[in-house]
Order: sequence, then structure tokens, then C-alpha cells
Amino acid sequence: MFQAILGGLVAGAIYALLGIGIATAFRVSKVVNLAQGNFFVLGIMVAASLAGPLPLPVAVLGAVLVCAGAGALQYRLVIRPALSAAHATQLLVTLGSGLALSGAVRVVWGPDDRSLRAMFEGTTRIWHGRLTYQGIVVVVAAVLLTAALTLFLHRTDAGLRMRTIADSPSVASSLGINVARTSTAAFALSAGLAGLAGVLIAPLLFVNFSSGLLMTVYGFVAASFGGLSSLPLTLAGGLALGCLEAIAAHQFDSALKTPLAMTLFLAIVLVRNRGGLIQQARVVQRIVPWRTPGRGRPSFRAPGAALPTGVKAPGAALPARKAFWRRRSAGTAAAIALAAPLGAQFIDPYWLSVLSFLGVFVIVGLGLDLLLGYTGLLSLGQTAFMGLGAYLVALAPKWWGLGPWAAIAVAVLISCLAAAVVGTLVLGLRGYYFALATLVLAITAELVANGSPGLLGGPSGVDVPGELKLFGISLDTPERLFLVIWVMVAAIAFLLSRTVTSRFGLGLDLVRSDPDLAAAAGVPADVLKLQAFVFSAGIAAVGGVLYAYLLRFVSPPAIGFEGGIDALVGLMLGGLGTVWGALVGVAVVRLLPEWTGSSDTYQLLIYGVLLTAIALVFPRGIVGKVGHWGRDVGRSRTAGPKRLPAPASRQVPSAPTAPASRQVPSAPTAPASRQVPSAPAAPRSHDPRPLLEGRSLTKRFGGVTAADGIDIALVPGEVHGLIGPNGAGKSTTLALLSGRLRPTSGAVRFGGKDVTALPAWDLASLGVVQTFQIPRFPADQTCWDVAAMGAFSQGSGGLLQGAGPRGSRVVGMLYDIGLDCLERVGLLGQRDRLVSELSTGQQKLLELARALAARPRVLLADEPAGGLSADEHERLGVLLRSVAEQGTAVLLIEHSVPLVMNVCDRVTVLAEGRLVTSGRPREIRTNQEVIDAYLGT
Ligand code: ADP
Ligand code: MG
Repeated sequence: MFQAILGGLVAGAIYALLGIGIATAFRVSKVVNLAQGNFFVLGIMVAASLAGPLPLPVAVLGAVLVCAGAGALQYRLVIRPALSAAHATQLLVTLGSGLALSGAVRVVWGPDDRSLRAMFEGTTRIWHGRLTYQGIVVVVAAVLLTAALTLFLHRTDAGLRMRTIADSPSVASSLGINVARTSTAAFALSAGLAGLAGVLIAPLLFVNFSSGLLMTVYGFVAASFGGLSSLPLTLAGGLALGCLEAIAAHQFDSALKTPLAMTLFLAIVLVRNRGGLIQQARVVQRIVPWRTPGRGRPSFRAPGAALPTGVKAPGAALPARKAFWRRRSAGTAAAIALAAPLGAQFIDPYWLSVLSFLGVFVIVGLGLDLLLGYTGLLSLGQTAFMGLGAYLVALAPKWWGLGPWAAIAVAVLISCLAAAVVGTLVLGLRGYYFALATLVLAITAELVANGSPGLLGGPSGVDVPGELKLFGISLDTPERLFLVIWVMVAAIAFLLSRTVTSRFGLGLDLVRSDPDLAAAAGVPADVLKLQAFVFSAGIAAVGGVLYAYLLRFVSPPAIGFEGGIDALVGLMLGGLGTVWGALVGVAVVRLLPEWTGSSDTYQLLIYGVLLTAIALVFPRGIVGKVGHWGRDVGRSRTAGPKRLPAPASRQVPSAPTAPASRQVPSAPTAPASRQVPSAPAAPRSHDPRPLLEGRSLTKRFGGVTAADGIDIALVPGEVHGLIGPNGAGKSTTLALLSGRLRPTSGAVRFGGKDVTALPAWDLASLGVVQTFQIPRFPADQTCWDVAAMGAFSQGSGGLLQGAGPRGSRVVGMLYDIGLDCLERVGLLGQRDRLVSELSTGQQKLLELARALAARPRVLLADEPAGGLSADEHERLGVLLRSVAEQGTAVLLIEHSVPLVMNVCDRVTVLAEGRLVTSGRPREIRTNQEVIDAYLGT
């Protein structure tokens, strides 16, 4: 045991060195460098080559310098250009450059294992065990380097510069620090450390070109002990990891030491993110895969709540562009399904096999697109589910005596269940922790399969038994399997194309682009993410099942990370978030080697370069590029602010007279609108009891008390103004009422019930809807799309229902509601314009339309008049009054005192986080305190 721990310490010191490199690079760039382990491998390879002609110490120094140079180059070429990109892009860039590096190592040094002769020969006795001198050097080096680096960061100017960049690159550059040069140095240092770790440990192990990714993962695990910043904790984490592995190997089975260590890592990461876990636990209560919560809790709902005007019978129009895309997708799927029998007839056996495998990876890519493209989740563990499906279909007959069909059903079902469990655990993790956790999953799965020869066949794999028959016809001939695979491709692509344009897809668009916005629209983001995760795992499992039947055999590479790299690279190349990108891109990736006749030698290098280049310069991919261009063409044909397309007139029932449709419906008499407020004889038929109440709401941000014991009550049918100077706490109060912020103390009550603990989306789905002071929109969407997204909570039906005919009716209805609300705010003519093309004022109005589409019972509007013209101001006032008159409680934050005084029934004044006074506009106008605090001028 003691001997095992000694060995573990040596391995742990290496993990620590890798982790310290990752943490150092992360500090200056906020990028987790997935290529770290590849520098480790590079160092060993270079040293092994140089050690022939040169003395060993020179070779070692040379190797470290080469690695440092490679790290600097990596930063300059690919990481720096990606600094402002999304986390997923950054990770893909580092993953791609790591693959490219390992591909380059493969090309230069070949596929064989290599080692290095020891610098320090011999062993020594330590208490009850023995350790090589080389091992002692490794541990001592790790400890000394950690100490030196820590001192360097905290005691030297260069270290201070690095830490300043870590805190804020913009502050750093304003202080005259050369951010690029310092960051380059940090990456060089980090890669040099990895190379050094490599040459130090090389005499004690063998590595080959593909060892890098696993080493990265080890380094990341060590670094995550230190929260990706503390070096001493990283050292401790690395050593602990090594020892645990050694103990596991000693006690159980050496093949299972890594899986055990990784499981431990997942446990630690999950515990560190307890908040996420608790949230996830709530999600589990709601996970019924085919149903996402629509408007729930009837008990909260007053009967006959306000309906906006003119909602048509279900089943009305999608925007032409979406309807066209749906039809074309259905057509393409049908064409594939129809062409498949012909292909099976006429294609020769070799190409039949090539295309069958292609089809399998297209299926996996389709599932991945739902996650990566539509949900925005970078899951690197998709192959684990593909492999699980494949293994289960091979093993279920053996283990449980199932027939082939039952085995398939069980394989897919268990994969989905596994995804539900895994998803519940990891979806709460932030950015790179999620991606890394899924990567760990795939790597661990492969190691488990490799390490269990008895149960899972070990490295040599397992055969797939039995004959697959349908109606007495065997499906096991290559032609029929080809047919089955491509019909499945068509079916899944069709299903996906429907799902992503359904209500579920609208929700995903919001979740991907802005969690707060999604919550404001009542989208249960966690539920949607989990459903997407499970569904895409199910698709991957179907791919795995087909793969197993195709190969008649399953082995560990099928389940590991690299087994699915074709799907990932193909999808990126074809275009994320396009459905058909998977087909096009995977076809290119798998067919190019066939045509160019290039061997395996260059494949990894090409993949790596492709992945990096696509992520950096071609993020739309092939289909995205073509589709985008097609959309621009389509828009210039159909849209245009002046002439509305014919269907519009059908949509707008309350607009028989064209000019009036531009006006807010309930304001036929324009001059009167000025008087509306001063005639608060407005229908008082509404429940006079407050619907939404904040009771002594307090919110502290560190030392700042943004809201301090605020009491506010919003009554149906009333517009409640909230005024106060900048920084008075208005937006904070609104966020507390909407559930976006949780109060430090105090309570929020809705309909008399305490809703303080409800998440924002839940409150929004009950009808408490907010707009944002700075308008927020998903990128690349049209006004109509955004308004329809706002109506999310008005429909029901989840992922699977979305694909059916009812799903079409529902999403059509949401678009109808959206159109109606665009009309109410006067944006009907802009409906097909991209949000990014709107003026600030129009964006404000669109925010309002998005909120109205949720049919709010409480509308919380944060400075909706900002950026509006005087004319628009007036119309806004009329609109808000009409909203209130339909029974909605409105909270209006506004700077324009005349607007507030004219429109509001009641006004609350805040200053410095505290409530100054609250009352009727007339009282406020004469209140001395208010004049002093706010109206003073
Ligand atoms: P208003 O909307 O009235 O202009 P806010 O509610 O936005 O004011 O802000 C009130 C105070 O709270 C300000 O001093 C602001 O700096 C602070 N504040 C708001 N949000 C945050 C936050 N997320 N973190 C720290 N301080 C905040
Ligand atoms: Mg504000």
C-alpha cells in the first residue's frame, strides 16, 4: 500500500504540473486549454529525438523550449482571435489545435509508443517502499515549481501584470500593460511546464500521439481542485488524485483506477456546484419528456383573465421563411427516404458500406446539432451514449436473453435513462465544467470498456449476436442495413426539423441566447436542456445500435471520445443549428479521405486543423452560410416596411381601415389620448386587491444596498409608476418582483401567496412578465420570431409533441399572438426585419411586444420609453393604459415626469434604495420630499 502511494505521488506530481499550466493559462485568458496534454506528449517526442545526437540535459532543455514556442504560437494563432468568442467556441478552438498537434505528432513520430532514458538512474529506499530517483525528482520539481510560480505571481512585476490581466484585461491595458505579450508569455510558460512534465516522467512510462487528451483531463481535474486559479491547491489536487488512483489500483483493479478517479472528480465538481444541483433536483420533479410546463397552477389563475384581442383559431400562419424551411426539410427527408431503396439496389458493396457508416455518423451528428447548435451545450460525451447503445445491443441478448428487437428497445431506453441521470447531474455545471465533465464521461466509458474483459469484452470487444428480422425478412444484408440506416437518417432529420421550429424550438432559441430573457418569457430552461440532452442521447444510441449491427462487433473505441470526432467535425463544418449541416458536413468529412486516398496518418491532423479553422473563421458552416444567404434573398423578396404581404390583412382583425391599424387599437380619437390619464374613471371593475406585492424588499450587492425595505403593491387595472434618480434601485426592485433577483430579505406575494422562492421563469409563466432596461434579444431573429417567443407560455407541448401536427398548430398560434402584439406596439411593418436592424426606440417597443405576447397579468416595464420620439411617447402611454384597462397590473419605470404623471394611477418614488413616498400623482407632484429628492430642478 505504501509503495502504491509512493507511485501515486509521482503520477500526481505530473497531474499537478499539467494542472498548474492549465490554471496559469486560464488566469490570463479565461480559456481552458484542451491542448495542454498534447504539449506534454510533444515534449517527450522532441526529447526522445534529440536525446540521440545530443546530451540528455540539452535534449530536455530543447524539448521544453520547443513546447514553450508551440504554446506561444497557439496563443497567437488561435486563442487570441477567439478571446471574445463564446465559451464553446474557445473550447473547440483549443480542442482542435490539440487534435492538430497530436495529428502532427502522429505524422512526424508515427503511431508507436515512445519513452526516454532516465536522467537519474537507480532507486532508493523510503521507509517501507522504494522509489526511483527519477520519481523523486518529479515530485520535488512539482513542489518547487509550484512554489516558484506562486512567488513569481505574487512578488514580481511580471506576475503582477499577469494577475491584473486575469482580473480585467481592459483595466490591464489601460494601465499600459501589454496584454498580448504577457498572455503569450503565460501560454508559453504553461506549455513549457507541460513539456517539462513530459520529459520528467517519460522514463517511467510510454506515450504515443493519442495520449494527450487524457493527460489534459488529468491536468484539468487537478486544476479544478484549485478552482482553476490557486496553484498550491492545484498541487494538492494533483497529488491527491495520483494517490487515490494508486490506492484504487492497489485495492481493486488497475484498469479501473482512472474511471474511479474520474468519478471522484465528477463528485467533487458537483459538490462544488451545489447550487446547480439543487436547481437540477427541482427540474427532475418536472421531467416528463413529452411535456414542458405551459401555464400551470390553475389555482393562481383568476378565471377569464385578460385575453388580447384577435387571437385566431389555432393553426394559423408561420412566417413564410419558417414554413418554407419546414416544407423543404420535409421534402429533403422524403427524397432521402425514397432514394435509399434505389441506392441499396445499385451501389456497389464497397460504397454501400462507406455510405452506411456515413449514415450512422450523420445520425449522431443530428443528435449533436440539437445540443450544440440549438441548445448551445458543448457536450463532448455524445459518443458515450452512442457506445452505450452499441454495447447494450450486443450484450443484452447475452445478459438478459433478449431477442434483437427487445435488445434494441432496451439499448435505446437505457441510454436515454442514463442520459437523464447524467444530464441531471452535469447540466447545472457552468461553461467549461460542463464540457469537461462530458469529455470525462466519454473517456471514462472507454476506459471502463477497455478495463473489463470479463464483463464487456475488454480491448477486443464483443460480437453482436442474433439476426434482425422484420416481418420475417432478415435485415442483416448490407443492402437492407443501408436502407434502414438511411430511412432512419431521413426520419430523424425530419423529426428534428419539426422540433426545432416548434414551440420547443422557440424556447431553445431563448435558452441558448439569454437565460434571463428565456426566464422572462416563462421558458423552463433547465427542463428544456434536459429534454434536449436526453433526446440527443437517444438519437446517438440509435446511431450506436445501427453501428453495432453494421460492424457486427463493438469495441472500446466506439464509445470513446475519438469515436465520435467525425460527427463533431462534420457537424461544425456543415453548420451548427441547421439540421442539414450534419448531413453535408459528415459527408464531406467521411468522403474526402475516400476520394483523396489519404491514409489514416494525416486524418487527425486534418481534423484538428479543420475544427480550429471552422470554429474561428467559418462558424456558420456550409449549410449555415448558404442558408443565411438564401434568407437574405428571401427577405428582400417578401419583406419591406412599406408593403405588407397579403396574409397580414387576414391576421389583423381589428384593422379593417388601413390607417387605423398603425394606431394603437383603443385610441381611435387621438387627441383624447392626452386626457386618458386624467380620467381615471377608467373601468373600476377589476379586483381592487393587489395582485403582486413586494414586502420590505431588501437587496444587497456586497456592500451596496440597492433596495432597502421597499413596499410596493401592484393592483390589476392600474399603472403604477416607479420613479427616482439613476441608481435609486428601480431596476433592482423590478428584478426582485419578477423573480430575476432573490431578495436578501423581504417577500414577494402573488395573488396572496408567497412566491419569493419561485424561479423567474415560473413566475413569468404565471403571468408576471418583465421587460429589460437595456433591450435583450436573441441574435439573428426577426421581430416576429421574438414576439412569438414571448408567447411561449401561451402554448403547451414539449419536444416530441412539437414534431407532430398539434405542434404545428401550437407554434402557429404563438406566431399569431406575436403578430397581434407587434401590431399593438406599432411594429407590424417591421415584422420580418432582423432585430439587429431596429432603432433603439423600436427595440424598446419590441421588448414590450414580447412581454405582451405572454399575456401578462402583471407587466413590469423598465424604462420602455427610453429612445422613443415624442410621438411614440404618447402612443406608449395610451398602450399602457389599454393594457391596464384589460385587467393587467402595470409597473412603469420612467424618467419622463409628464408621462408618469399623465399615465399612472399611483406613483412610488425611490431614492438611494429607499422608498421616499407613494401615492396618487397629484399628491406626489406637491410632495416636498419628492421635489427635494427628485423633481428638484
Ligand atoms: P436604477 O434602475 O434606479 O437606476 P439600479 O436598481 O439599477 O438603479 O441600481 C441600484 C444600485 O445597485 C446602483 O448603485 C447599482 O450600482 C447597484 N447595483 C445594481 N445591480 C447590481 C449588481 N448586479 N451588482 C452590484 N451592484 C448593483
Ligand atoms: Mg434602471
